[in-house]
Amino acid sequence: MFGSHLSIAGGMERALLEAKSLGLDTVQVFTRNQQQWRIPPLEPTNVQLFRHHAAQLHFEKLVAHDSYLINMATGDRALRQKSLDAITSELDRCDALGIFALVTHGGSHGGDGESVGLARLIKSINAVLDRTSARTLMCLETTAGQGASLNYRFEHIRDVMAGVRNASRVAVCLDTAHVFAAGYDLRTAESTAAVLEEFNRVIGFDHLATLHLNDSLKPLGSRVDRHAHIGHGTIGLEAFATIVQHSQFLSIPKILETPKGEAPDGRPWDTVNLQILRLLMAGHKPTSRSVQKALADNPVDKPRSAGDSKRAAAKGEIAAEA
Ligand SMILES: [Zn+2]
Ligand SMILES: [Zn+2]
Repeated sequence: MFGSHLSIAGGMERALLEAKSLGLDTVQVFTRNQQQWRIPPLEPTNVQLFRHHAAQLHFEKLVAHDSYLINMATGDRALRQKSLDAITSELDRCDALGIFALVTHGGSHGGDGESVGLARLIKSINAVLDRTSARTLMCLETTAGQGASLNYRFEHIRDVMAGVRNASRVAVCLDTAHVFAAGYDLRTAESTAAVLEEFNRVIGFDHLATLHLNDSLKPLGSRVDRHAHIGHGTIGLEAFATIVQHSQFLSIPKILETPKGEAPDGRPWDTVNLQILRLLMAGHKPTSRSVQKALADNPVDKPRSAGDSKRAAAKGEIAAEA
């Protein structure tokens, strides 16, 4: 089950229709303008429209990502309160829209130390889950460990889940680019299998609700979060082959958060990345002619013509990165 993070500009249902046109099985969205604290109420007609299209398209596991403004682990009381209000409202929106998982980075300890930050995060999640009965899972994403952010170790997420009173309402999102930047080696099939085994041992596959499939521009352990097209980054294709073929991940949404826009061959980048993932899923080896041709057809270093860039910019594709 593949999806991509797509824009809701022009109406929430637009993301569903675009996902369908790209050949995807699901989609990830922001359910509101993620750069603002203000969350306008959902219009019932928009909820109906979204649910209608999701049902028509048979998109069963829709995913949302919370606003990057939210920090549930902060020691700043005002920011924490705003964060709790915002994520509670986002969970309620997701519930109304029939979205099954809301992905969140958890937060940053702001220099107070990881154990202090994790304790605040647990307290915050418990407070949020007390305030809403939303059925949407709060989905803790593995992070790159940038700055003072938490949840870049599987043990952080394990400890947070252990502290949540109603653990069945919390799940996990594994982001390949983030775990790689955090120091988990995904460079070979063997090392990837070992990382997945570690995830299973520390957190457990039964808690994995969604995957983010992104290659990384930055090296292993860089603690810097920069996404690259599949097969064009420092992770490479062995990891993605291992993950898309994993029998326990078949019905788990695998979401692309790679850059948008038009690839050199004129197709949307999501279509190109999806083609490579589907080839790998069908058993084509990363070194096979078919996969290598798909990669070579769309080199990332090939400069786009000025006309292409202008057209893409006019359509708002370049700025749509998640
Ligand atoms: Zn994220
Ligand atoms: Zn992600």
